[in-house]
Amino acid sequence: MANNDPDSVLHPGLVPAGQALEIVLEGAGPGGTERVPVAEAAFRVLADDLASLRTQPPFDASAMDGYAVRHSDIAELPANLQIIGQSAAGHPFSSVVAPGQAVRIFTGAPVPDGADTVVIQENTEAKDDTVTVTSETGAGRNIRKAGLDFREGDILIPRGSQLLPHTLALAASMNHASLTVYRRPKVFVITTGDELVLPGNALRPGQIIASNSLALMALAREAGADAMDLGIAPDTREALSRIVDKAMAAGADLIVTSGGASVGDHDLVKPVLEELGFTFSFVKVAMRPGKPVIFAWRDVGGKRVRLLGLPGNPVSSLVASSLFVRPLIRVLGGHPAEAARPIPAVLGGPMPANDQRQDHVRATARRLENGTLEVAPFSVQDSSMLATLQKSDCLIVRPPFAPEAGAGDSVSVLLLRPI
Ligand code: AMP
Ligand code: MG
Repeated sequence: MANNDPDSVLHPGLVPAGQALEIVLEGAGPGGTERVPVAEAAFRVLADDLASLRTQPPFDASAMDGYAVRHSDIAELPANLQIIGQSAAGHPFSSVVAPGQAVRIFTGAPVPDGADTVVIQENTEAKDDTVTVTSETGAGRNIRKAGLDFREGDILIPRGSQLLPHTLALAASMNHASLTVYRRPKVFVITTGDELVLPGNALRPGQIIASNSLALMALAREAGADAMDLGIAPDTREALSRIVDKAMAAGADLIVTSGGASVGDHDLVKPVLEELGFTFSFVKVAMRPGKPVIFAWRDVGGKRVRLLGLPGNPVSSLVASSLFVRPLIRVLGGHPAEAARPIPAVLGGPMPANDQRQDHVRATARRLENGTLEVAPFSVQDSSMLATLQKSDCLIVRPPFAPEAGAGDSVSVLLLRPI
């Protein structure tokens, strides 16, 4: 479809997906900080530059098991030295190594005064109180100098860093028992739909299981939210209004609704938000699946409550949550703004030309021998089909108006699992 085709003009209010994400993230940021014990800080985001409270190692330490010696004593080999004691990790030798003497030393132990070199035990022979150094060792070898890793006052972890396992280990090694991190954004998930019941129930005619909230809660928590599921609201204005009010009163940073986001008689999200005084940024996104995506906000007591209204179809809900909910939660939690990032792949077969909506096509993927990812779309893409999503390895992201494509053509994909 050419760009001058009348159909290529975006419907008023139909916002391109990339622009929609920019709108969602505009002005968003962390809502405050809190102090947490270092043991509970994993995967949180540091809110202050972190300076070390100590120098590491705090003393010249042995890097090996062996003997601490004066290098001048081992200039001529073999050299016989008197063993005057030992230095083990946590148990330093408290005296001085004089000429002709050596101290048995172990990894991590302080190198005693007087010694300047550690000879590894493999290069020695010990008998009673005497050690014979048999092979050459360079001056200063096998010693980690004080401050080799870092020094007191060094800023080693900048503000905005995520506390990954190794980052946490460093923070602890810097002697921080607690850390200032960004508050987790408070996210409330609201499900709408008279037809929905929780899993494990017997279904009456016309009912189906509510599945979106499970996925939304998992996604929100993985993104770092303090997430709460407010359950299912029946399709009445009063019920939906009450539950949105409840989320606002509970201090929501973000409310995510599932279902009722379209323009049908039973689609109540937009009218209820209007009644509640929300401002709408957009109500439709040029994407498939999931055109009816609402982004609205209201300032409550000096704080902005954001709301993403997602369509009810399970696949639409999941795609929209990957594109908008996850990046927004991350930014509200202090992470840098980042879109879901597609990676390159090639098509295994033909695909038709795309229309004005960015398409997210469920597909299988496999690695070719040269490492290229080859993807094959499923022929049926109905947005209700969760089993197809489960069978998929990726979503092929087709930009608006992408021309017809064939086997071997380049595409971008969002991986759903490592491959
Ligand atoms: P809606 O967006 O409310 O018009 O719903 C679109 C379709 O998605 C309908 O077939 C609903 O039954 C279905 N649906 C809505 N919410 C959910 C949910 N939480 N879990 C599974 N399916 C849903
Ligand atoms: Mg509904």
